[in-house]
Amino acid sequence: MKCKICKEDAIIYLPSHNLALCEQHFFDFCKRRVQKAIKRYNLLDEGEKILVALSGGKDSLTLAYLLKELGYKIEGYYIDLGIEEYSERSKEKVLNFADRYGIKVHIEQVKELFWGYSIPQIAYITRRPACSVCGHIKRYLMNRFGYENGFSALATGHNLDDEVGVLFGNIINWKMGYLGRQSPLLPSTNRKLLKKVKPLVLCGEREIAAFALTYGIDYIEMECPHVKGSTYLYNKGLINRLEEKSPGSKLRFYQGFLENKHLFKEEDVDLKECEVCGYPTTSRICTFCNIRRKIKERIKGQT
Ligand code: SF4
Ligand code: ZN
Ligand code: ZN
Repeated sequence: MKCKICKEDAIIYLPSHNLALCEQHFFDFCKRRVQKAIKRYNLLDEGEKILVALSGGKDSLTLAYLLKELGYKIEGYYIDLGIEEYSERSKEKVLNFADRYGIKVHIEQVKELFWGYSIPQIAYITRRPACSVCGHIKRYLMNRFGYENGFSALATGHNLDDEVGVLFGNIINWKMGYLGRQSPLLPSTNRKLLKKVKPLVLCGEREIAAFALTYGIDYIEMECPHVKGSTYLYNKGLINRLEEKSPGSKLRFYQGFLENKHLFKEEDVDLKECEVCGYPTTSRICTFCNIRRKIKERIKGQT
């Protein structure tokens, strides 16, 4: 197989683009996909101070690598969730990556903020699914850190497969409000809320994994133990089967949705300031502060 551009030996064939590429042209291709998403969906401005959420996985590390390569001003942010081996290993990957590519990385620890409790323990005490607690805490901390340290955008490594998986789930269940909100760009609607961007939305999971392997980005392959059995993963599997039969389906589905997004109305949300922390929330006290209150009550009950 030869590279379609330079006719050298190809290292990858991308069925969804009907394109075989050599190492150099695959690199350029990935860079261009990110640039295209940034431009097409108006994600970032030059010179903007961007906080990149790093998990140690292939997507977030590749995103940081490519944004730096494209000349954006980035710093990384990692949350130690306290999920034993998974957190230890992922932190190591993030620190090694940051060191190797000269990227400043900030670390916050859930156990430090929750009196020694980890995500699984917080989930147990609050009787909520681990991923729900984890999602709330991560979103809150990333935003708070970014706001308090002068960042204007938070970039996450959601890729095309992630977005298509979520979109499929939202359509199957006709979640109109979520459909209205699903976008590569969530603009800031409050001075204390950072703009959220997903510059990898035009890059498939397989391309990102191949990019990380080709260019030596050392990422954690182990999955979080709580991810098992999610419907979202099952949906991703179904879509992959469709993609195999009809290459390009994922991209057509996702881009078609974005072109027709006006059909789905975004839910109006009435934001107030949390009475405890002052950050925007839809209720009197935000979920983060409510979780902290429950943990505090538990500690009091034990003494
Ligand atoms: Fe958190 Fe769930 Fe993701 Fe694990 S799988 S990191 S618990 S959201
Ligand atoms: Zn080539
Ligand atoms: Zn609060």
